[in-house]
Amino acid sequence: MRPIAAALSLLLATTACTTMDAQPPAVSAERLVAPILTTPDAVDSSTFAQPQVARVTHVALDLALDFERDRVGGTATLDILARPDASQIVLDSDGLQVSRVTDGRGNELDFDIGERVEGKGAPLTITIGNARHIVIAYTANPQASALQWLDPEQTAGGEYPFLFSQGQAILNRSWIPTQDSPGIRQTWEARVTAPKPLDVVMSGILQGEPEDLGNGRRAFRFVMDKPVAPYLIAIAAGDIDFRAIGPRTGVWAEPAILDRAHWEVADTEDMVKEAEALYGPYRWGRYDMIVLPPAFPFGGMENPVMTFLTPTFIAGDRSLTGLVAHELAHSWSGNLVTNAVWADSWLNEGVTSYFENRIIEEIYGEKRAEQEAALSFAAIEDTLAEVGTDAPGTALHQPDGTDSAGSAIVYDKGAAFLRTLEHEVGRERFDAWLRQWFDNHAFEPATSAMIYEDMRKNLARSEAEAERLRLREWIYEPGLPANVARPDPAAFATVDAAAAAYGGSRAIPAAAAWRKWSSAERQRFLQKLPQELSAEELAQLDRQLGLAATGNNEELFLWLELALANRYEPAVPKAEAFLAEVGRAKFVRPLFATLMEEGEWGRPIAQRIYAKTRPSYHAVTRGSVDKVVGWKE
Ligand SMILES: [Zn+2]
Repeated sequence: MRPIAAALSLLLATTACTTMDAQPPAVSAERLVAPILTTPDAVDSSTFAQPQVARVTHVALDLALDFERDRVGGTATLDILARPDASQIVLDSDGLQVSRVTDGRGNELDFDIGERVEGKGAPLTITIGNARHIVIAYTANPQASALQWLDPEQTAGGEYPFLFSQGQAILNRSWIPTQDSPGIRQTWEARVTAPKPLDVVMSGILQGEPEDLGNGRRAFRFVMDKPVAPYLIAIAAGDIDFRAIGPRTGVWAEPAILDRAHWEVADTEDMVKEAEALYGPYRWGRYDMIVLPPAFPFGGMENPVMTFLTPTFIAGDRSLTGLVAHELAHSWSGNLVTNAVWADSWLNEGVTSYFENRIIEEIYGEKRAEQEAALSFAAIEDTLAEVGTDAPGTALHQPDGTDSAGSAIVYDKGAAFLRTLEHEVGRERFDAWLRQWFDNHAFEPATSAMIYEDMRKNLARSEAEAERLRLREWIYEPGLPANVARPDPAAFATVDAAAAAYGGSRAIPAAAAWRKWSSAERQRFLQKLPQELSAEELAQLDRQLGLAATGNNEELFLWLELALANRYEPAVPKAEAFLAEVGRAKFVRPLFATLMEEGEWGRPIAQRIYAKTRPSYHAVTRGSVDKVVGWKE
């Protein structure tokens, strides 16, 4: 099967931008319309859209942010590419209050919001007739799942409210009426108003200075002239300042943390250069970041030209900047070439995790890269030990209905696959292959079947080599193929010996040695400690290594997890403070899960803390922790 040629139903085409009422279009009149895929494996079950009938090619937002009522509302003007006989377009929506839909001339169009499907929202069907340019007037629900409205107390400054969005995977339909599917790429522009003195940033290029509207508000304009998957439209607003890093890189953060944030990400301009040297030009113009308040549910989100970051990666020593390398790498894997369906999210995350490690190697050297790869590999082994090497959820391609074994597969096994290919064919051939993959599929969706065919054609030199590389097994089968490239055991030789010594005689590393270790080494040591420890042993570890007092949140998390799993009372106040401040699901969910596993001791603690902290978490974090603690509204 050669899915590429057969699948491009609406080939590259340009559509003229119809002029909006009063304002000239900010995007040039000729816009690139990205192809969509129509093979069965590229049909997205998480959208109501029928893109082969009618699809959105451009979104123009004109929105006002209302911090009094936690609402965003205004209009979305959509450009549509449709079959001549198409009379309707189906959009995704979730909780949107649509007041009116009109065509480009202001004529009313009929619309209907269908029945809501849990986790998917509801179809918004609009009778378009001949209209290929429609205006939707709407307001998002204050509980919109993509948006988090923070009270001033949840910010570092404590004085102003804050807003941020998280669109991936299918949350943007809660604030933007469009076709919310990663395979339906759209260009977009936005005009957003916000009360002074708040600044607004988006995942598009800011156009000029904000306009003072004279009513205590300012208007900000943004343009994304490259077609992107709509989950990548993102917004943040708050009392934030900007500081440049290099000519095309910089960071936004609240004034109170801008110094620390700027120092931590100072290697970013160099990272962009190294990433370009590896896999081709950075095609998005600027690369800026915003460090958000700690309620942000993820480590980072690769929103184009404006990566969103948790502040929990700030360790004061740049030891956790793999996060920045990761989000930057998504500018190629994920944002440039995008999984057409979430069943293939390893194409975004696995390729990115591999690429991240290559950037780390260039910036910080082989040793750190090898250690971080070894931590990643240990995560695969832990997951396989837990769910079994034949669990269907451990295949990279995850067809609908499979219960994925999680990030250790999508991210870490995906990275191990590419690492194995690199070892098998050599770095030079591998890098040339990956670069052509990005070049040949730039601004397009992709599937597992496509990368499989591409590897057979452009990486393997023969059918026999394709067989030897075990390409099909890697992508479609559970577990780890026999040719897997394992990390160098020497990467953690010192630390593993120290952990073994502790396991035997409870000998704790000297504090001076501990401080000299890399963060990856300290994390490895904490992961290798015996699962069962007494209160006295935990107290000694904490005293000697200063675990509860560390400023490194990855290490603090491992310490808290270990301590809570051993019902160590002195760790509870620290855990409670951490859970009250940080909303990052990677930390929050396992800590609640650990408490819940500790029965009579831990459950009441988990339930007591969660009742207090739940309102401060993003919907993503609430969704995962609700299940863990059995929360009922
Ligand atoms: Zn990622």
